Amino acid sequence: MLSVQPDTKPKGCAGCNRKIKDRYLLKALDKYWHEDCLKCACCDCRLGEVGSTLYTKANLILCRRDYLRLFGVTGNCAACSKLIPAFEMVMRAKDNVYHLDCFACQLCNQRFCVGDKFFLKNNMILCQTDYEEGVMKDGFTPQVR
Ligand SMILES: [Zn+2]
Ligand SMILES: [Zn+2]
Ligand SMILES: [Zn+2]
Ligand SMILES: [Zn+2]
Repeated sequence: MLSVQPDTKPKGCAGCNRKIKDRYLLKALDKYWHEDCLKCACCDCRLGEVGSTLYTKANLILCRRDYLRLFGVTGNCAACSKLIPAFEMVMRAKDNVYHLDCFACQLCNQRFCVGDKFFLKNNMILCQTDYEEGVMKDGFTPQVR
């Protein structure tokens, strides 16, 4: 995506609009950039060094870290099985990830607050009440977390 080309005639920099007189032109998003002007739209880190990886999306130029943060995915929500974008807050229980909104007792839909106890049974999140009821019913061994 980033290519260095020999300078033929002076080009305007897409970052600062001034002519680029450098020997090499950096090209990204089909525009030309000064080495110093080619920066990540999020964190301002320089992307102009030859060989550095840059990512483009919807006219944004991003470094790898920000690209993954914004457009990567964390995984599938264990409750609704939709993808969770990497920038979203997630809840984790064992190897499972959940949308914040999906993280609730899967029997009574009770949401959990910080410090609340929750339980995992057969990969289902349960509140304490439902879990204990389950223990009474079929006597599975408690796995308190
Ligand atoms: Zn410039
Ligand atoms: Zn960045
Ligand atoms: Zn979900
Ligand atoms: Zn419950």
